[in-house]
Amino acid sequence: MGDLKKKDREIYDAILAEAKREDQNLELIASENFVSEEVLEAQGSVLTNKYAEGYPGLRWYNGCHNVDIVEKIAIERARKLFGAEHVNVQPHAGTPANMVIYFAMLNPGDTVLAMDLSCGGHLSHGNPHNFSGKLYKMVSYGVNRKTEMLDYEEIAALAKKHKPRMIVAGASAYSRTIDFKKFRQIADSVGAYLFVDIAHIAGLVASGVHESPVPYAHFVTSTTHKTLRGPRGGFIMCKEEFAKKIDTEVFPGAQGGPLEHIIAAKAVCFKEAMSKEFKNYQKQIVKNAKAFSNEMTKLGYRIVAGGTDTHLFLVDLSKKGITGKGAATVLDRAGITVNKNLIPFDPQPPAVASGIRIGTPAVTTRGMKEAEMRLIAGLIDKVLSDPENEKNITCIRGEVRKLVKKFPLYKKLIRRLEKE
Ligand SMILES: *Cc1c(COP(=O)(O)O)cnc(C)c1O
Repeated sequence: MGDLKKKDREIYDAILAEAKREDQNLELIASENFVSEEVLEAQGSVLTNKYAEGYPGLRWYNGCHNVDIVEKIAIERARKLFGAEHVNVQPHAGTPANMVIYFAMLNPGDTVLAMDLSCGGHLSHGNPHNFSGKLYKMVSYGVNRKTEMLDYEEIAALAKKHKPRMIVAGASAYSRTIDFKKFRQIADSVGAYLFVDIAHIAGLVASGVHESPVPYAHFVTSTTHKTLRGPRGGFIMCKEEFAKKIDTEVFPGAQGGPLEHIIAAKAVCFKEAMSKEFKNYQKQIVKNAKAFSNEMTKLGYRIVAGGTDTHLFLVDLSKKGITGKGAATVLDRAGITVNKNLIPFDPQPPAVASGIRIGTPAVTTRGMKEAEMRLIAGLIDKVLSDPENEKNITCIRGEVRKLVKKFPLYKKLIRRLEKE
């Protein structure tokens, strides 16, 4: 990026500063990860120049020979990785991928049964400010008040009562495994489509660490940038019978030209995800989340749903004299990045929240294991036990720096940027 430094110093400086921020902080936001330099390379390539409206072999513009190769490889790899009948790799992100499923299969006003945002669902699962909440009659299911886990009997009862045209499974802040087979049985019992959104758990699913919804769901959407550790983007998997409908709804329905440079990076990510190292990485993510949440429990924190089977967990701070917002803010000052999060039946509004969400994908990418998770839990406890103590926060900041130094991130890249 030597030329960028000379020609656009402001942007260059911001990029270098971000690389350093990522290296020097403990990244515990469950939806974030650090991509490989190969993913970065593909993403930063000349493929960004090409207009390729349409699909491989069926483009509107000429000159698509090379991007056709890229997109075909991306599709084939995703099909193999997830065992899907049909794949579309063009959605720009997870929300547009979800939009395509709704637009292709529903009419405005149709009833959709999806998970409540306050229990872990995503904005695109019916939030009133999102297109999904505006266009469709959204009915939501939550978690059981006592177990804080999905209650399939309740979901079945809601389905029976409301007769949805589509049932959506998948979440942004749910720490337990989801039983897709049960979801399909419920969908079949009322003649609804089953749409599963694996934005968060795609890496776990690709590695067999979480059961795959692909055999059970009519439609599966995902992001590529969360546990899957690829570029910021989305993709769709579906049964062959819906292939044409979905492809037409992506283009020309919802999008124009696909981002072929991002599709190249998705292809690189899918290849990486087929490796043995990736499988071990996904297993370690879950081991780390379990060790982390167990340590938090030992330190006196209540973990929502009693623990985790996945890459994330929620900490209930309502008895700790600090809100989720307060905790996330003070932890940030100590170099620990988490997000505030509603807990089930949270009395606080979403902008305040009673909990924080902690995820292990990013720190696991750095090579951290269970021992480091226990150490980080201890650091979090020290900050949250004395949130007004500036000296203490500075001291923990120093501890964080010491820890991350042992697990360097983008070392070559940062050195290169600084040298230029
Ligand atoms: C992150 C997420 C998405 C998509 O997010 P984008 O920011 O649009 O890529 C969709 N569904 C769920 C459940 C998510 O967690």
